[in-house]
Amino acid sequence: MSEMKKVLLAISDEGVLNLLNSGILSLYQIETASTLLDVKTQIAAFDPDALLIDETLMVSGSSDLAGRLFEENPALPVILFSGADSLLTPRQVLSFGAADWFQFPFLPEEVSPAIEKALNRSKRWTSWQQKETTKVTGSLQNRVNELETIFKVGQSITSNLDLDQVLTEVVQAAVEVTGAEEGSILLPDEETGELYIRASRNFRDDFVRTFRLPVTDTYAGQVFKTGVPLFLNEMDPQKIKTAYLVYSIIYVPLIFRDQTVGVLGVDNRESQRGFDDKNLTLLQTMADYAAIAIENAKLFSQTEIERSKLETILRQVEDGVLVVGEDDRLILVNHVVRNAFGLGDQVLEGKKYSDVLSHRALLMTIRGDAPNPDRIEIRIDDQKYFRARSTPIDGVGQVITLHDISYLKELDQAKTEFVTTVSHDLRSPLTSIMGYVELIKRVGEVTDQQADYIKRVQASVYHITTMINEILELGKIENRLDKNFEMVRLIPIIEDVVTGQKPVVAERNQTLSVKLIDSLPAVYGDSIQLRQMLENLIGNAIKYTGRGGKILITGETEKDQVILRVQDTGYGIPLADQPKVFDRFYRANNVTPDTQGTGLGLAITKSIVDNHKGRIWVDSKEGEGSTFTVVLPIYE
Ligand code: ADP
Repeated sequence: MSEMKKVLLAISDEGVLNLLNSGILSLYQIETASTLLDVKTQIAAFDPDALLIDETLMVSGSSDLAGRLFEENPALPVILFSGADSLLTPRQVLSFGAADWFQFPFLPEEVSPAIEKALNRSKRWTSWQQKETTKVTGSLQNRVNELETIFKVGQSITSNLDLDQVLTEVVQAAVEVTGAEEGSILLPDEETGELYIRASRNFRDDFVRTFRLPVTDTYAGQVFKTGVPLFLNEMDPQKIKTAYLVYSIIYVPLIFRDQTVGVLGVDNRESQRGFDDKNLTLLQTMADYAAIAIENAKLFSQTEIERSKLETILRQVEDGVLVVGEDDRLILVNHVVRNAFGLGDQVLEGKKYSDVLSHRALLMTIRGDAPNPDRIEIRIDDQKYFRARSTPIDGVGQVITLHDISYLKELDQAKTEFVTTVSHDLRSPLTSIMGYVELIKRVGEVTDQQADYIKRVQASVYHITTMINEILELGKIENRLDKNFEMVRLIPIIEDVVTGQKPVVAERNQTLSVKLIDSLPAVYGDSIQLRQMLENLIGNAIKYTGRGGKILITGETEKDQVILRVQDTGYGIPLADQPKVFDRFYRANNVTPDTQGTGLGLAITKSIVDNHKGRIWVDSKEGEGSTFTVVLPIYE
């Protein structure tokens, strides 16, 4: 490719232009402007290498335009052309700053070399200018590099908890910004008090490993003790330690909260180049970073120790501990909880509890919508049971503790089995007592008093027999011996039970109403058990409501569950008794002794509900009435 032609911009009247066009300037690309006003746009458009200007344009009224032109383009050479009757003196030409001047008549062959000369001078000027610029920007670049290094170290400190790595970076940066040969960070050994090299750059490994410096009578020790930086620039090598001689060294203290925690040093062993104040300032910045990093690491390791202490404690306890934050994210899940719910050892902290946990009773405990918050039982399988409790903690969230009650359940099971066996064995002697009592009257006259005693014996035996039958019934339900599950329609059963109770209701002058939605779906279950459940609840409502009271039975659906409620305006249950009424043989405080009952009806009812994977609870106020709610799942 041929070299690009130099561009000349000719600002001239026609006469001179013709002359220029005569062929002498064919080496150049010529552009033109006819007035000084055009020049600006033409310069911008063509970026000319020189200007050729006609004198008439310079001396006419636009001379300050010309002046500005020179000011704005100081590096652009200008060659002036005058007519024969030029008014300019050479002094004026010089004062314009022109590179050359031709007056008519001039020899065309003189023009070309003059232009070349002007172009060359301009080239030299430009390259000198470039060199100067590089020099200036070079030191700026250095400064930018320093700032960048400092910035990087700062970043590394805030984002990195690995102390060794951070300190190594600090030393490296210190060596870089000071241009030193080597550098090190010295920290005190906690046992001996001597300084050792914690991080270094360009020192031999074995030197670093064995390096120990007493605090007394050493330069570094002095800086460590006084917290004042130290500066050595010597003609002869100075001894820092055996086989450690330097020409120049800077030691600066690592200070955190007025305490010197170490020393940062850089030195030159080979070259006699000294350090200056700027090096000292830069080094002190690095030292501040190092001090922060050391403090960070200390704080972090303290927190770590506390955390691991807590973790050990939580690992030792046999209760499950689960902490949920106010934002519903898990803060802590101990091993008991992990094992119980099969959560493995994945990281759970920070996740939403609802994404991790699926056990219904546990979720209800966390959400706080368990019907009986004081007695939440969580069944893992037939062998494992927990009692759950949630405690709110201000500003944190809540702690859920899971206490293992499997052994209680086992005891309970053993007790039930024992009672069942004994009950069973009592049945035949009771039958025989009943039989013989029956016979007494037949074998001879009995007095009125004897007849009365016989009646009492019969009533008691009847009561015991009822109790035994209920105990056996409960055992059967709990062991799910008769699992005859099918789709069961509830409406006919409810109506049937209500009809059966009508005479008692009428006798007690009570009102019993039933409100069921027509579409009450069937549930999957045992129809005999479900009937017994309803008989117990409705029977209780009638039994524990005075004359003239009201009883309301409702049935509706919500999502995929059937909700049955038996509501009465009766005596109610004292608050303290409410959690226990579903226990075996438990009767509330406000029940008069002559009220018939065994305290087993609700225990049986609860077992039936459990058997159907449902829930039951009571809301009651003494003197106002009670509502028993049963929720049963609908299976498609
Ligand atoms: P009981 O044979 O004593 O009726 P249950 O197990 O059916 O035994 O009930 C346990 C206790 O719960 C009762 O003794 C009574 O104190 C209380 N109870 C049950 N239902 C009601 C109700 N509708 N109103 C008031 N108290 C009730």
